[in-house]
Amino acid sequence: MIDTHCHLEQPAYDADRETVIAKCRRELTAVVTCAPKPADYAKTLELSKKHGGFVFAVLGIHPEYVEDYSDAEVDAAMKEIERNRLAIVGIGETGLDYSYVKTPAGRERQRQLFAKFARLANRLQLPLVVHIRNGEDKETADAFADAFDILEREGAKRVQLHMFGARKLLERAIGNGWYVSCNAIILRSKSYAKVVRDTPLERLMLETDAPWLHPSGDAAQRNDPTGVLAVAERVAEIKDAKPEDVDNATTQNASEFYGLKLR
Ligand SMILES: [Zn+2]
Repeated sequence: MIDTHCHLEQPAYDADRETVIAKCRRELTAVVTCAPKPADYAKTLELSKKHGGFVFAVLGIHPEYVEDYSDAEVDAAMKEIERNRLAIVGIGETGLDYSYVKTPAGRERQRQLFAKFARLANRLQLPLVVHIRNGEDKETADAFADAFDILEREGAKRVQLHMFGARKLLERAIGNGWYVSCNAIILRSKSYAKVVRDTPLERLMLETDAPWLHPSGDAAQRNDPTGVLAVAERVAEIKDAKPEDVDNATTQNASEFYGLKLR
């Protein structure tokens, strides 16, 4: 089993990061960890180097943070990503989050950077990890519609829609050849469960978004990549599939999607 989306650089792991990774090694095939901002790149690269063939790195700028960086800083981040092309397996997470960012200027900045990261992923021939979330004004500003337009306009092919919950756009995503990943939110949310139900197994990947989204639903509890086991169990229930079939298919999908060199 592979956790395709977590954040091992988070301070929540500072006290026992190596113990957590050792536990993951006992239970999982691989872990893909996603650095949400440039200050996290070095630590993320170091982890994937130290745990080569097991921990894999994805670098990007989370849409939540886009207003914290000047154009020059974004360019520098992109250069750093390009310099580390061979040490990473993807770009992200990037995308649109209209819940965190509510101003028209901030959202425009998200759209610009999202398109830039999509172009970079195309040029470097790397997968793109996409985060999309609507704000309370979703009737008038739809982050999902905007994000899909940008991805299609940029010709994005290798796309992971992380924690995807927009059932009405699922056919379009599948038609474009994109992948959907789900985490423990499917243990509680009917709308997210519907997306899992209707996503073909060959397009589905598992994730945790750890340290967040512990399977217990307790926001105070720290999650870790082994939380993906509970997600797989729930996927098997929702899809009325054998747990080993879910495990095999999602592991193969993740390994192929990211081109993982497993060891
Ligand atoms: Zn994330």
